[in-house]
Amino acid sequence: MLPAACRAALFLSLCLAGPTAMAQDCTGKLGTSRVMQVDPSGLQVGTKHFPQTLDLADREVVLTFDDGPLPGTTPSVLKALARECVRATFFVIGRNAAGHPDLLRREIAEGHTVGHHSMTHPMTLADIAYDKAVADIEKGIAADDKAAYGASGTRPRVPFFRFPGFGASSELLDYLKGRGIGVFGADLWASDWNPMTPEEQLTLVMARLDHAGRGIILLHDTRAQTAKMLPAFLTALKEKGYRVVHIVPVPPRTATAP
Ligand SMILES: [Zn+2]
Repeated sequence: MLPAACRAALFLSLCLAGPTAMAQDCTGKLGTSRVMQVDPSGLQVGTKHFPQTLDLADREVVLTFDDGPLPGTTPSVLKALARECVRATFFVIGRNAAGHPDLLRREIAEGHTVGHHSMTHPMTLADIAYDKAVADIEKGIAADDKAAYGASGTRPRVPFFRFPGFGASSELLDYLKGRGIGVFGADLWASDWNPMTPEEQLTLVMARLDHAGRGIILLHDTRAQTAKMLPAFLTALKEKGYRVVHIVPVPPRTATAP
């Protein structure tokens, strides 16, 4: 049940800011314009690697951060997002989630979506034996859910996955499809694995975004240059009229009582 304030559309921006930010005034901030419920069944999105992407309107973006959580940089990323009332998706590495469960829980408490990115981040899963790759995927999901929620079940709480280095094989894509786990690629990225100044990175990613006009954007919350760039990036999105869409999985179907 949503709090009364959340049921009133007028207060939607407050509710979208997440449970710990309920009292935050998001007036004049970039904010989160809408929540998109995504059905993970057979989902493969991101035009860098797949023919289709999410159903985004012109100037709508989905912000995604890979490889965390890490104490040196993830808190700065969370702070910048909170300051602008923006909700994002983190594709986390299992061993980092297990090592920093406090940060993982903070991501969730602040309203972000936490998806999965394998246990050890092999480069790539497609280049190792199928059984090892599946084990690394499953260990990662189990480690993430245990760190986030205290336990892992047969179905991940958030059935969203991104392949490290986008190294997917048709066999692994079929495996995830069979597990009901959606696969996220990206539509554009900041190339933040390449060393550059935050200013150079901002110029690069905004040029790519202005060219694409919309899309799933890949960043890394483990990169200091990205953490430093983020406040200016969010300001640039606001000034140019971009709107942030927050993705969440559709609620799992519950069995009908006999
Ligand atoms: Zn990665």
